[in-house]
Amino acid sequence: MVKKALINIDYTYDFVADDGKLTCGKPGQEIEANIVNITKHFANKKDMVVFAIDGHDEGDSFHPETALFPPHNIKGTDGRDLYGSLKDTYEEIKGEDFVFYFDKTRYSAFAGTELEIKLRERGIEEVHLIGVCTDICVLHTAVDAYNKGFKIVVYKDAVASFDQPGHEWALRHFENTLGATII
Ligand code: ZN
Repeated sequence: MVKKALINIDYTYDFVADDGKLTCGKPGQEIEANIVNITKHFANKKDMVVFAIDGHDEGDSFHPETALFPPHNIKGTDGRDLYGSLKDTYEEIKGEDFVFYFDKTRYSAFAGTELEIKLRERGIEEVHLIGVCTDICVLHTAVDAYNKGFKIVVYKDAVASFDQPGHEWALRHFENTLGATII
């Protein structure tokens, strides 16, 4: 059986709440139950669960996103907390040996993190992607996963974006160009 890992991307207050600093708004809020249910499903089977969460240092003038977006997900702020009941789910499962939390440094969960080395150690062949935004961080993570030879599964009702055409384009790209399974 193919070994799989769930990668939970950027589902934080700043990216989801109405007053988040860089929010997806309602489309992001509407996937909360699905995100939590999928996370619990993986955790119940003790399959690898990764939280890959954007983290910025305040006033980091060298980070390329500084010129592109308002400050968001600043380390040590509430805006970086996991959103809604996903925060409770994480509190319940953190510390288990199949649960990992990585400070994401760029759009892709693979850039500047230990994600790949942890996946390879465990013989993971397939990554399952949920979170926000479909056409930015989920997309870049999927592209890296493709280039590194992982099979990809994307849950269309557990990814969201502030940009609906971008969301729909990315779903087509996952399937038609990256060979992902969309469920
Ligand atoms: Zn960021």
